[in-house]
Amino acid sequence: MLSKLKKISLGNWILIGMLLGLIVGLLLNFYVTDPFIKDIVLMNNVFYLGGNLFIKLMKMLVVPLVFFSIVVGVASISDIRTIGSIGGTTILIYLITTALAVTIALIIGMYIQPGAGLHMSDIGGASNLTMNQTMTDTILNLVPDNPFSSLATGDMLPVIIFGLLIGIILAKLREETETFNKIFTEGNKIMMEMTSIVMKFAPIGVFCLMAKTFGGLGFDGILPLGKYFVCVLIGLAIQGFVVYPSLLVLFTRLNPIKFFKRFFSVMFFAFSSSTSNATIPLNMEKLHEMGVSRDVSSFTIPLGATINMDGTAIMQGVAVMFAAQAYGIDLGTSALLTVIFTAVMASVGTAGVPSVGLVTLTMVFNSVGLPVQAIGVIFGIDHILDMFRTAINVTGDAICTIIVSFRNKAIDLDIYKGDKPPEEEKHIM
Ligand code: ASP
Repeated sequence: MLSKLKKISLGNWILIGMLLGLIVGLLLNFYVTDPFIKDIVLMNNVFYLGGNLFIKLMKMLVVPLVFFSIVVGVASISDIRTIGSIGGTTILIYLITTALAVTIALIIGMYIQPGAGLHMSDIGGASNLTMNQTMTDTILNLVPDNPFSSLATGDMLPVIIFGLLIGIILAKLREETETFNKIFTEGNKIMMEMTSIVMKFAPIGVFCLMAKTFGGLGFDGILPLGKYFVCVLIGLAIQGFVVYPSLLVLFTRLNPIKFFKRFFSVMFFAFSSSTSNATIPLNMEKLHEMGVSRDVSSFTIPLGATINMDGTAIMQGVAVMFAAQAYGIDLGTSALLTVIFTAVMASVGTAGVPSVGLVTLTMVFNSVGLPVQAIGVIFGIDHILDMFRTAINVTGDAICTIIVSFRNKAIDLDIYKGDKPPEEEKHIM
């Protein structure tokens, strides 16, 4: 029995936690009328404690995780000068496609209104939630007055800017700053490990958050959650099967069907593993089979797995709209622009491993004053969405790589079109 339980993956445990929490919450809402047991013991103590402990653990990770990941990600672009224009163009395309992805997600969220009718403020967690920062303030606030106080208070945008600067300088000084390079690389490893440890508590945390939410909301909570799920899927489908093929045709005139036919196995691998990082070798191999020079892909694919997360950005955009609607907060234009900017930065700071997109989501929420408690509600179904979004994340990396290779004449078009076999045949799937 115990060995059977041990075989259940973390993702499935989270799913189990979510379902149990949902059932317990609904039962509580319908059948338990004693306010002492329901509200005082369970809702406001047991579930509140379990859920918020988990959220605090996640929040604890954000600043160091994002900071180290950005420094290391930028510092590792060691060859940015030798690679010259490829580096610049790749980064630019990565950032633009991510900004496009969040925008699509926000629009979908505005139309479908996944959070409407979910009166989260009734069950607590809302703070004073007006967002009336002007655009000039937002720009000014990007630069830290004191980076250490930004780190200490978790003011993410200045932290990111500071991280970017350190990364650039480390990449420039290279040998002279080897010790610091090592410290940051190891710091990044430590934070990734800590993330996976914290995630082990996710099933309990998710159980408590779901039980508390549905204990308060009853059946009213189910439809919005389903809508949120569908919104994210629609966003991912648009990005994957409309935006990417259009970009491919627009910039290269290459046939997107030929791309998807061969790339599907990579998407599937990313889907089942939920990690862009682990998909790097397969992604590069498939691109090679499509005629893309390894000189380009060996740089762009690992970089993309670190900084380009369009699928994650879509989930974050929809989550922002979901939470804003659930708490009845009106996000103005400058708040939405802040969301786009922060989500692009969050995508840069999201490591390509399972579930990290949710950790960096707290930073997007904080940037516009949304209560992070809302993340607890979507946590339960995130494992499934993580699979879908990772498939889109890696597709974005591949499409950008093909575009960059095309512009730099680093793709053999005969191989892409299937008129010629790839140079050294090597199939790993
Ligand atoms: N699992 C995603 C990836 O590896 C990251 C995330 O969104 O959590 O690409």
